[in-house]
Amino acid sequence: DLILTEKGFMQQNELSYPFEERGLQFGDGVYEVIRIYQGNYHLLNEHVDRLFRSAEAIKIEVPFSKTEMHEYLSELLEKNSVAKDAKLYLQLTRGSAPRSHEFPLNVSSNLYAYVKDFERDLESMREGVATVTLEDIRWEWCYIKSLNLLPNVLAKQHAKEHGAKEAILYKEGMVTEGSSSNIYLVRDGKVYTHPATKRILGGCVRMKIQELCKEKEIPFIEEAFQVEDISYADEMFATSTTAEILPILKVDTVSVGDGEPGKITRELQRLYEKDAHI
Ligand code: PLP
Repeated sequence: DLILTEKGFMQQNELSYPFEERGLQFGDGVYEVIRIYQGNYHLLNEHVDRLFRSAEAIKIEVPFSKTEMHEYLSELLEKNSVAKDAKLYLQLTRGSAPRSHEFPLNVSSNLYAYVKDFERDLESMREGVATVTLEDIRWEWCYIKSLNLLPNVLAKQHAKEHGAKEAILYKEGMVTEGSSSNIYLVRDGKVYTHPATKRILGGCVRMKIQELCKEKEIPFIEEAFQVEDISYADEMFATSTTAEILPILKVDTVSVGDGEPGKITRELQRLYEKDAHI
């Protein structure tokens, strides 16, 4: 299995890091997950753009230009044989240096990316999922896809321990996003979601949802809703690169709408699959 690094392509088992690596010691880095359908990257431009935005926000230099990044990622996919459905994981850190909080001098960033088979979770998409709410204790710069995922990890584990698939996070009573997804509420034929401020990660699937809503003249309203509004929702759903579009049937003990995947959710799932040719 070949991987891409800042030094070029190498075998997966050839990659090694000194133990003083800033991604490991400080979570000082950013990452991306990109979906591969039928041997092609999905929403590649959006993901590459976001990677560069995340890196710039925390002043990490990307070792390649955007054009090179596109070329190398294509080459990575060509060099590996993956199944029909797969994903790419890429991470970029500030580099390896003796442990000290401030940015190290004359140190170049570390990057690696690999592709891996990854099946679609058709059952969750079809049947819908249960969720739990949890206070969003994260920092104010959640628009950066940072390696610091501890609050997200704890939130997802909390969901799992409560028999749920996702944790819906709220800050000051307002739903921000999921532990690894964006969250939407549908009421009277309108789709509501938290605006793409610094408090959430602007999802690549979210962008696509916005586009699909526009095409179908479904009002897409970037307005945060409150946890209490969930009782009045007709439908809810979550989106992410790996989960795609998940109907949310339950939030804590509350059933959403009639407790079945909603009409608009189903329509968006259909449009998303059509658009992605899956
Ligand atoms: N919000 C968070 C916190 C995430 O981790 C993710 C993705 O994993 C998303 C939103 C959805 O982003 P995307 O649609 O780009 O996968």
